[in-house]
Amino acid sequence: MKIAIIGGGPSGLYLGILLKRRAPDWQVEVVEQNAADATFGFGVVLADTGLQQLRHADEASYQAMTAAMHYNDRQTIVHNETPIEVARQVKGGAIERLRLLSILQAQADAAGVRTHFGCRIGMVAELARIGLADADVVVGADGVNSTLRGEFAEQFGTTRRSLTNHFAWYGTHHVFDSPALVFRKHAGGHFVAHYYPYSATMSTFVAECDDATWQRCGLAEMSDDERQRFFENLYAPELYGKPLLSNNSVWRQFPVIRNAHWFHDRYVLIGDALASAHFSIGSGTRIAMTDAIALAEALLAEAPNVSAALHRYQERHTPEKRKLIEASEHSFDWYERIAEWMERYTPEAFVYHFMTRTGRVDDARLRRAFPELMKRLEAAGVPSGAGA
Ligand SMILES: Cc1cc2nc3c(=O)[nH]c(=O)nc-3n(C[C@H](O)[C@H](O)[C@H](O)COP(=O)(O)OP(=O)(O)OC[C@H]3O[C@@H](n4cnc5c(N)ncnc54)[C@H](O)[C@@H]3O)c2cc1C
Repeated sequence: MKIAIIGGGPSGLYLGILLKRRAPDWQVEVVEQNAADATFGFGVVLADTGLQQLRHADEASYQAMTAAMHYNDRQTIVHNETPIEVARQVKGGAIERLRLLSILQAQADAAGVRTHFGCRIGMVAELARIGLADADVVVGADGVNSTLRGEFAEQFGTTRRSLTNHFAWYGTHHVFDSPALVFRKHAGGHFVAHYYPYSATMSTFVAECDDATWQRCGLAEMSDDERQRFFENLYAPELYGKPLLSNNSVWRQFPVIRNAHWFHDRYVLIGDALASAHFSIGSGTRIAMTDAIALAEALLAEAPNVSAALHRYQERHTPEKRKLIEASEHSFDWYERIAEWMERYTPEAFVYHFMTRTGRVDDARLRRAFPELMKRLEAAGVPSGAGA
């Protein structure tokens, strides 16, 4: 089998590794537009809940990733200047995106995957340039702006809409003690900073506000540089005066991309190209990598019958994918209404509402995973005491 994978992000590289490790005689090639040492963003959270699945799929890359992660066992949620600590029983970790990619690149090399860096595929026909025009399967692992998906948008049944909140992904040299979400009211606006350390020298800082705030506080008229300064000032106490760092950190509204059909003919989508997962659940990378696991399993089980493999991929993986994507949707719906929640709730009720926003966490799970937090919430009459 000859497999062409467009996109050398986490899902594309991981798919290459999984296929080549189990089918060494297959030709598996990954085509990436960027150089090997360039990417967008800073660090990403890899939640402990998903890591075991990655371990099961490939022990070597799991070991390399977890060794490079920066761990934390608590998070703070600050609602209108009242901090509430959320201590976890299990440690969660974060990793620099570039480090994750270099680990996956090394694993892909070791497995025998051929990689082409600095090679953008605008149209499928361009695969001919690198001898991949006759690939049995062409995988779109090329992220939210997937060109493969764009070329066959009608066949995939692609839908796209934008959320109303505005956000930008920054980094900072300030190494926060632990991850936090700081919801702050300022000048009639409602803001949130999501930040977490991901190495001994760096933290991620995602800045966000709702559209009413964007208009009211003049962010709509500012340049990206001015917006960056605005957030540096607004969060100066947390940043200890350190600047925010940009890595193509443009302000945007999150695109919600869905596809009714995951494949068309020999073309198939995985990761963000298939369904964008909102950053607020901190799982987009893992969700993308589990798509790679599912597609690898289907191809290996059904080869050389491509049609059977792609049907199997969509049929078997839909329930898990749907669960995770629905959690992401509940989460972004919640963030779209932050002003309302910040105004309506006490800090304890706010945290409870936040923790249960995806519909995947009930009181029993909260009690098990966050016993100290639950004691504090219950002492404040939450959840049973409604909340306001
Ligand atoms: C602000 C923010 C914070 C986030 N935080 C987290 C987090 O904490 N934890 C988490 O798990 N996830 C997080 N995510 C989500 C995560 O980044 C994505 O879900 C994940 O990267 C998806 O992986 P992917 O492989 O599908 O796509 P991508 O990582 O987007 O990779 C796609 C690759 O394809 C390449 N490419 C694109 N087009 C072409 C082309 N035409 N030809 C060749 N190559 C091409 C790109 O250069 C890129 O390398 C965050 C996202 C954002 C926006």
